[in-house]
Amino acid sequence: MRAQMERILIIEDEEKIARFIELELEHEGYKVDKAFNGREGLEKFQSYPFDLIILDIMLPELNGIEVLRRIRQVSDIPVIMLTARDAVVDKVTGLDSGADDYITKPFAIEELLARIRVAFRKSVNHNDKKIQEELVVGDLCLNPKKREVYVRGNLVNLTKREFDLLNYLMENKNIVLSRETILERIWGYDYYGENNAVDVYIRYLRSKIEEPYGLKFIYTVRGVGYVIKDE
Ligand code: CA
Repeated sequence: MRAQMERILIIEDEEKIARFIELELEHEGYKVDKAFNGREGLEKFQSYPFDLIILDIMLPELNGIEVLRRIRQVSDIPVIMLTARDAVVDKVTGLDSGADDYITKPFAIEELLARIRVAFRKSVNHNDKKIQEELVVGDLCLNPKKREVYVRGNLVNLTKREFDLLNYLMENKNIVLSRETILERIWGYDYYGENNAVDVYIRYLRSKIEEPYGLKFIYTVRGVGYVIKDE
């Protein structure tokens, strides 16, 4: 049993083929939606979170390559392209445009199902790699790309400055950073404001990521500065 139902969008103008794939995928336990032209496909992709797309190349309104190009501007969702027999150019263009795989019509449904499983496996590995890019200190987790911070799985709302400061501390986990170094790095060399700015922002951070949870991440090193570390 799958932990959760994966959602697949089929973009295919030949309704019989689309319906056939849909029935087979539903039988396999996937949740399926269909679109019969490129524009409709793109609209459905934008309005609903799918896990995989099966995309025909020859489509009315917007062709499959163009649909894929627009999807790739915002998402790395797995895409399997359907191409006409021996259309080598289609395959090359599709893969160049960021398709994960392609399958030539007519195809055996078992082959499509196998490709789908491979695409899902690759995408899981890909997501694991992404998770490794996150910075973690105990129950504290920071995602630099999304600019999100979680404590014990709870999203914490930080200001830009608070986030930058925490990010810097976490990048330098277990390394003591002086107030001067932090000030230069986060506030800039030309900062002439309050010289206790670092202490003030450390206090803000503690009130958001430590105190509500009874946890401790940031340690004061007397006369020097601060360090973030696992307890
Ligand atoms: Ca077609």
